[in-house]
Amino acid sequence: APQNYDVVVVGSGGAGLAAAIQAHDEGAHVVIIEKMPTIGGNTIKASVGMNAAETRFQKLKGIEDSKDLFYEETLKGGKFKNNPVLLREFVELAPEAVEWLAAKEIELNDITITGGMSIDRTHRPADRSAVGGFLISGLVKNINKRDIEVLLETSVAEILSENGVVTGVKVVDEYNDSRILNAKSVIVATGGFSANREMVVKYRPELDGFVTTNHAGATGSGIALLQKLGADTVDMGEIQIHPTVEQTTSYLISEAIRGGGAILISQAGKRFYNEMETRDKVSAEIIALPEKSAWVIFDEQVRASNKAADEYIAKGFVISAPTPEKLAVKLNMDPHTLSETLLRYNLFVVEKKDEDFGRTTALRHPLNQGPFFAIRIAPGVHHTMGGVTINPDTAVLDAQKQVITGAWAAGEVVGGIHGANRIGGNAVADIIIFGILAGKNAAALAKR
Ligand code: ADP
Repeated sequence: APQNYDVVVVGSGGAGLAAAIQAHDEGAHVVIIEKMPTIGGNTIKASVGMNAAETRFQKLKGIEDSKDLFYEETLKGGKFKNNPVLLREFVELAPEAVEWLAAKEIELNDITITGGMSIDRTHRPADRSAVGGFLISGLVKNINKRDIEVLLETSVAEILSENGVVTGVKVVDEYNDSRILNAKSVIVATGGFSANREMVVKYRPELDGFVTTNHAGATGSGIALLQKLGADTVDMGEIQIHPTVEQTTSYLISEAIRGGGAILISQAGKRFYNEMETRDKVSAEIIALPEKSAWVIFDEQVRASNKAADEYIAKGFVISAPTPEKLAVKLNMDPHTLSETLLRYNLFVVEKKDEDFGRTTALRHPLNQGPFFAIRIAPGVHHTMGGVTINPDTAVLDAQKQVITGAWAAGEVVGGIHGANRIGGNAVADIIIFGILAGKNAAALAKR
């Protein structure tokens, strides 16, 4: 016999977990369906943090920021392709989302910066660790506390509807048994399609052969599920490559390292671009180098201020040496050129003016304290900005911009918010903001 719920949440990444918690707290009977054997989706790999402007934590640190500036910088970073209504909503609701997490003992009270912003607004855990693991473990504690049911190794194969109104889902479990779950609301929070090589290449043939930073579950299945109900999509060709990916393991080297003061160096031993530009531009410059790869270089001071750096060292990605000259020898680089490059950069830090590439942010401190560190990187497929279309209530829209009653979507499965390029730290904000909203509205519909 079919089981009855108010709200079915498809996907256990940040968007799905936030939606489930909120829907539960609105009084709905909720189940989370996750096709992988573990909770957390691609969110668990999120590195840098959560962007928000005009937050309590910024004020505590004396950081003056504005929602309007956050909006303008995100729009510029997205090449003015962002859906303005969704973007405005995103910016407005971001501080509340930071507080929603804090109220659930998920406090992101340290603040850093990523490419494409002029003010520190990327919120991260107090110990400066990667945001993803911290966020998921905090959300899972909240799921457990509320006794919200989670079905692992179970995938949604179909969203069911009658006369265009959603009635539930068909799920298939690890034994290949299928069954029906009834629900008036289905929240699709299935993430992006970076790990679906065929789909990536369909929209962007030139990305064939690129590694991806994403987990294996990032296949875009939710897009197909919703398209079958008539959902429209937007910006499907807008696929972000992240500039700094360790190529043998596809491991992401966080933007927080550059935000903490690291620089990028070519095999020739020289800087080649403003390291704090947006991901699309930095990636393009790396691909244009003769080796199509580069080095992230930092010193002891940068290492000490970024927990992720120690993780990279433990993973064996990092080459280190007591002086820039000795590091250069290990990198097969001309020692004189590298030390000259560092001296010149250090001068720019002191003068607060990068005369070569116009870097204006994260000129934190001179790179002059040994040991010195290097990680070889090249770009990898990282985020799919495109996806299904939603209205500001997170209701899924068809090609006529009509609501598909009972179908909701939040997180990377949705297109439009980030335009042509997502700013680092905006994905975590996106999944929490719109996850909460989807949970709230889906619960309200189900109880009507
Ligand atoms: P977001 O960042 O938008 O929250 P994530 O990638 O973190 O997205 O999480 C999406 C989750 O959805 C992943 O754990 C993925 O395995 C899961 N998922 C994708 N498609 C399905 C499906 N058809 N059925 C169940 N779970 C799915």
